[in-house]
Amino acid sequence: MPGHPHVARRDGNLYVEGVSLDALAREHGTPLFVYSRQWMLDALAAYQRGFAGRNALICYAMKANSSLGVLRVFAEAGCGFDIVSGGELSRALAVGADPARIIFSGVGKTPAEMKQALAAGIGCFNVESEAELDVLNEVALAAGQRARISIRINPNVDPKTHPYISTGLKGNKFGVAHDRAVAAYKHAARLPGLEVVGIDCHIGSQITDAGPYLDAMDKVLDLVEAIEAAGIRLHHIDFGGGLGIDYNGDKPPAADALWKQLLARVDARGFGDRQLMIEPGRSMVGNAGVCVTEVIHTKPGEDKNFCIIDAAMNDLPRPAMYQAFHAIVPVSERATDATIYDVVGPVCESGDWIGRDRALAVEAGDLLAVLSAGAYCMSMASNYNTRGRAAEMLVSGDSARLIRRRETVQDQLLSEQV
Ligand SMILES: *Cc1c(COP(=O)(O)O)cnc(C)c1O
Repeated sequence: MPGHPHVARRDGNLYVEGVSLDALAREHGTPLFVYSRQWMLDALAAYQRGFAGRNALICYAMKANSSLGVLRVFAEAGCGFDIVSGGELSRALAVGADPARIIFSGVGKTPAEMKQALAAGIGCFNVESEAELDVLNEVALAAGQRARISIRINPNVDPKTHPYISTGLKGNKFGVAHDRAVAAYKHAARLPGLEVVGIDCHIGSQITDAGPYLDAMDKVLDLVEAIEAAGIRLHHIDFGGGLGIDYNGDKPPAADALWKQLLARVDARGFGDRQLMIEPGRSMVGNAGVCVTEVIHTKPGEDKNFCIIDAAMNDLPRPAMYQAFHAIVPVSERATDATIYDVVGPVCESGDWIGRDRALAVEAGDLLAVLSAGAYCMSMASNYNTRGRAAEMLVSGDSARLIRRRETVQDQLLSEQV
């Protein structure tokens, strides 16, 4: 499949690596997320090639997909993790992540989360405001520790992506404004509970153009010069994540090619000796995953035909949240003519659509695969309409392992009382 080298059709049936999706769905039910381990390792390898010979650390941004079975693949491969909550820290530690390779991002870390992360001995807090510097300083002093920090800079560049996933523009809530950065670093350097170790930025997600990265890189390197001129040494430079994937013929730069370009700038400005860090999420898992779903009914209409499936916006929230596109293909092909359908879920919302105007030859009971479902699907899944969250499988070669069992209604009711 385009963009999905580990998803292929054999004799009309869809496979992830060597495993038949039809067989998996018959055994484990639907909706079912299926991930290719090899796709993840190949995605990581592209970044590793880009950083060959460098002092570099790749921190997987686990909010893209924080399932333990997925995290373990990256932990075993030597990745660090970029976390955005105390809950994510617990997940990283549960798979044996090295705390020194964990960095903590996010605009609203609570004192309790700061304390938890200090106790775990994480590598760095990516601080997003001047107020956060003061709170973290107090929490660290109270714990008798020094918190290693970098400040997230908002470089004010347009990543040319969906407004909800742009984060590096002046109007966004993220980071410290470029103009305030030197003052914020001087403030941080005076706080006894903090140790300044780096600088970071992250401009947005699903970026398919190298231009905004190069612009942001220049602005960050300008600041590295200015901050060091003020006598504050920066040991690492973290360029965030955000590289896009192919959902619908998108052509993002390859990770290794992009980093070759970026590193040329870093070297030209004389910062090639620093530790270089990145925080990729989507590009590490997005096209590793498919969601297998069953057609419940087809419903012809005057204006539209609907194909009603058993996966919904609670499983696959990206279309409802960002009008995002996921390719949808039959698991087993039919020889009959295709009809144009809106593919929708059972949830009681008109926003509950998964694909619009799709040509499909399907009948009730058929299986469909929603592609590019590895990132920002299961990690965003909810229980809306008291729907249990889907099961997940990790495929490696010819074998498939259940990494999350299907959530039952008992699981959901357990935390409630009348
Ligand atoms: C979400 C996020 C990332 C990862 O973004 P992707 O687009 O998934 O690569 C990296 N860094 C920070 C701070 C983030 O919030």
